[in-house]
Amino acid sequence: MMSLRLPSIDGVLRHPACGPLLERHGRESLLAGLRQLLDELRPGVLNGQLSAVEISPEVLAGRVSERLAQQQRSHVRRVFNLTGTVLHTNLGRALLPDEAIDAVQMAARYPLNLEFDLASGKRGDRDDLIEGLIRELTGAEAVTVVNNNAAAVLLTLNSLGARKEGIISRGELIEIGGAFRIPDIMARAGVRLHEVGTTNRTHVRDYEAAINPRSGLIMRVHASNYSIEGFTARVPTAELAELAHRHGLPLLEDLGSGSLLDLTRWGLPAEPTVRQALLDGADIVTFSGDKLLGGPQAGLIVGRKELIAKIKKNPLKRALRVDKLTLAALEAVLGLYRDPDRLAERLPSLRLLTRPQAEIFAQAARLQPALAEVLGSLWQVSAVEALGMIGSGSQPVARLPSAALCCRPQVSKRLRGRCLLKLEAALRALPIPVLGRIDDDALWLDLRQLDDEAAWLAQLPQLQVDP
Ligand SMILES: *Cc1c(COP(=O)(O)O)cnc(C)c1O
Repeated sequence: MMSLRLPSIDGVLRHPACGPLLERHGRESLLAGLRQLLDELRPGVLNGQLSAVEISPEVLAGRVSERLAQQQRSHVRRVFNLTGTVLHTNLGRALLPDEAIDAVQMAARYPLNLEFDLASGKRGDRDDLIEGLIRELTGAEAVTVVNNNAAAVLLTLNSLGARKEGIISRGELIEIGGAFRIPDIMARAGVRLHEVGTTNRTHVRDYEAAINPRSGLIMRVHASNYSIEGFTARVPTAELAELAHRHGLPLLEDLGSGSLLDLTRWGLPAEPTVRQALLDGADIVTFSGDKLLGGPQAGLIVGRKELIAKIKKNPLKRALRVDKLTLAALEAVLGLYRDPDRLAERLPSLRLLTRPQAEIFAQAARLQPALAEVLGSLWQVSAVEALGMIGSGSQPVARLPSAALCCRPQVSKRLRGRCLLKLEAALRALPIPVLGRIDDDALWLDLRQLDDEAAWLAQLPQLQVDP
């Protein structure tokens, strides 16, 4: 028996099927792919496990083509967020409006006046690009923008309280997620934690008793992702500001989401607004760009002019500053807030948050037959009312009345868990992965955020769930 030999790299390259691959991926990638494939096949050839067809140039070209296509596929993928959580931190939070997308494109494509004052022809400051709008929308004297709100808190604490004590209620020593815990961030900012009060109740006298010559600031943090109910007491910002100012200390308020407008006008749960926090006397307010604001990831620091000036002088500001794409998007989003009457139509996050339950339910009823057909008799698919969440730490206990496609496996209780995981994995394997949530022995697809119904339906026939 004649032993098989792997074709040489040149041998494969000469095959006509490699022409288009060379064109698409370039010589270097194609050679590397081929070399890797041949190395993997060599032992099989030596053992006599592979047939002549399996190592023909044509088959090898096909395999390398698949491999290169796979490698070329972007790791940043669009998904359908049907989890029911609108501002989902793991799924990129707010979606930008067209105005912001256009602004990002412009900023990406052309040189721009990022730090250049077109009026004077002199060097400018990137914060100036949005300062006017922020002042108008919040009543703040001044503003500076950094990479995210975590950075905003770190920079503010470090600029105003390093080597001094920061007074904060024990009820506000929260963990926001990941490694972001207020006590840790204070320590990293060089601020000595001086905690006061108790988890559920902190009074103004607790703060007052803590003030001493080493005090540098009083801090207040919006307890974004949890809620304490029952026997609780929290000092109103105005009262705390009065105390802070009597002792010559700045009051910082980390609002987390921090809305620019009163959300109750759209029937959403009340969130403290930035303007109100400033009116109440907070000297610096920090909040996120991509939570309720509905913009790009950013951290906004607003408040008293002399404090903002001090923050901007901190060398850390340079390390935490925002880029031109973010600033372009942020300005466009803020611009939409000048016309609140049309905001819910134009700002995707607000539009999604305020979608009426009846409309979402009608969509669920419309899509139910298609999903039921694809899933077959093993699954009971129904259009049902469901409860979603705002997400990103806004109103952790508030629920958004929504509607979902609820998929229940019609199998014994013992097998249900595995069935649900298989369906979840199959949905994730679609060209545009579909992400739902498993709860109460069912898989729920909350449709509040299903904008692109056509794309969702079009890929449904590709859903392959093993029985
Ligand atoms: C979300 C949040 C942060 C962190 O904001 P990012 O923009 O995610 O960095 C900080 N503080 C509070 C109270 C928050 O809710």
